Amino acid sequence: MKIAFFDTKSYWKDSFGPVAEKYGYEVTFFNERLTPATAHLAAGHDATCSFVNDEVPAEAVHKLKDLGIKVLLLRCAGFDSVDLAAAKECGLPVLRVPAYSPESVAEQGAALLMAVNRKTHLAYERSTKFNFDINGLDGVALVGRTAGVVGTGKIGQCMINILKGFGMNIIAYDAFPNPNLGLEYVTLDELYARSDVISLHCPLMPATRHMVNAEAIAKMKDGVILVNVARGGLVDSVALADAVEAGKFRGVGMDVCEVEHEYFFEDRSDKADKDATLARLLASDKVVISGHLAFLTEEALTSMAEVTCGNAKAFLAGAELVNEVK
Ligand code: NAD
Repeated sequence: MKIAFFDTKSYWKDSFGPVAEKYGYEVTFFNERLTPATAHLAAGHDATCSFVNDEVPAEAVHKLKDLGIKVLLLRCAGFDSVDLAAAKECGLPVLRVPAYSPESVAEQGAALLMAVNRKTHLAYERSTKFNFDINGLDGVALVGRTAGVVGTGKIGQCMINILKGFGMNIIAYDAFPNPNLGLEYVTLDELYARSDVISLHCPLMPATRHMVNAEAIAKMKDGVILVNVARGGLVDSVALADAVEAGKFRGVGMDVCEVEHEYFFEDRSDKADKDATLARLLASDKVVISGHLAFLTEEALTSMAEVTCGNAKAFLAGAELVNEVK
């Protein structure tokens, strides 16, 4: 199988290359993102392999079909980058990696929580200048405080385990509560009202877009810590920036953000017209943004490569496509 691999970075080559070789696949690593404008690069290949910020709308799907692409491999869980109806119309299966080290993603959520609470980023900045003054670097002890977890799937459950380790009381909200978890499920309003820490772990879809908006933020406690390692679109970033500037939050830890497509995974330091809302958030020392790297662990990268290559193998063998997005 010949795979056209898009949005390549060194960490992808290092993790995906050896696994693909083991499977006997030929991979061409393109630095470009897969978009309608770059789809032509896939000529001569059997499959494309794309990630979260590639764009595969109907136009790209049709181009890929015409070029002889037989299967669309996603090395991620989310499939919002692909026009699924167009893929179905073209008879192109879309295969994904539904889970890859959910612990890694939750651990980054915990890292962001600890950073904004204990101001690690500010302490680091000072210490690199030989400034060991700790004034203003106070945090709170998490033990005994309440954490509200939105979305109690694979990553939410890992986050709950970590938060329990801190001695926090857990309350949860999920559109589909899991009675086997023994959790105290509450309404979203109650979760907002009671939580000292709110951590988002639900998927982005029309029902959840901007679930954290001005109205929701107003229902939260003053001094709450918000963590988002799920999807940027869950949070109305203008409302968030307004609230951050108004002093609502103790801290905000974000691995994802609404405008990340334009910025993340690239060095945009020399971009002249930077997004105004993102710039407002970054201007606050209460906000730490990690640039969508919660997946970036050895374990997750290996798992993504193994599952993606396994998906391709099942496709070649005509076997059941267990990871097909229907
Ligand atoms: P999952 O499918 O195991 O869990 C999602 C949970 O959200 C489920 O329990 C589901 O019932 C719940 N849910 C669905 N609709 C909801 C709603 N309207 N309100 C509240 N809860 C709702 O998914 P997961 O593996 O835990 O991943 C969660 C999200 O994390 C993914 O959708 C993805 O966007 C994000 N993610 C981010 C990274 C990263 O690198 N930052 C990596 C992987 C996944």
